[in-house]
Amino acid sequence: MTNSFQDKVAVITGGSSGIGLATAKLFAAEGATVFITGRRQAELDAAVADIGANAVGIQADSSKLQDLDRVYDAVRSQKGRVDVLVANAGILEHATIDQVTEDHFDRLFSVNVKGLVFTVQKALPLMGNGTAIILMSSTAALKGPGRSGIYGGTKAAIRSFARNWIVDLKDRQIRVNVISPGPIETPGFTGAITDPTALAAMLAGRAALVPLGRLGHPDEIARTALFLASDAASFINGADIQVDGGWAQV
Ligand code: NAP
Repeated sequence: MTNSFQDKVAVITGGSSGIGLATAKLFAAEGATVFITGRRQAELDAAVADIGANAVGIQADSSKLQDLDRVYDAVRSQKGRVDVLVANAGILEHATIDQVTEDHFDRLFSVNVKGLVFTVQKALPLMGNGTAIILMSSTAALKGPGRSGIYGGTKAAIRSFARNWIVDLKDRQIRVNVISPGPIETPGFTGAITDPTALAAMLAGRAALVPLGRLGHPDEIARTALFLASDAASFINGADIQVDGGWAQV
């Protein structure tokens, strides 16, 4: 480790599982103080223990603006600033257009779109010039595998936000970039499938669609986030980095 994020403050929403947890661990290992959020207190406590020193867990639902205010009040009182924001919290649910309900639509848009917008807006007063924002989209925004129209729509919106926000934040030199993961093996990806045979079949089927022949690991997204937040990415702004083993490129 290079400790390149020594004394930096990172906020990672949805940091108690999967991609967010891997990202929080990597930033903490590089010396940052990481504030992580999630709705479930037990998972948050376990993640804080797993990350070790330099981790603070704040129970919060990103789709609730008063929860976001509470998160940033805690960051302000403990550290006074945000150097890196990873707006990662998101949910995946499948439905064909025939199956879409108002609840499905509202759940996905309220967490993945509304939650992300206000996670960023409410962080801005704490973010200085030259800081970095990373938005977690998905290659589902680029492909049409079926049963993912609403989810893919929420992730496509994020691409558009980044294009506009780099202009809105131009005077502050805040870089905003998007990561679009392909299939990454996380609790959110495996979802509700508990039968081991069905799970193995699903994972093998998805891996077979990836040119690299495997699913991605959360660490592979974490390393991309670390790079985008670092000085090595100082001229990368408004980009959408697809980390997908080639899935959405063919
Ligand atoms: P995960 O394992 O289910 O983790 C999701 C995290 O977000 C958890 O910590 C969860 O904690 C939190 N979260 C969910 N809803 C929240 C809310 N309303 N407010 C605050 N926290 C919330 O999922 P993952 O696979 O790591 O996904 C992380 C992000 O990557 C998501 O935005 C997802 O869409 C995106 N992504 C994932 C993949 C993939 O293949 N895994 C591919 C493309 C994009 P609680 O449930 O306790 O709130």
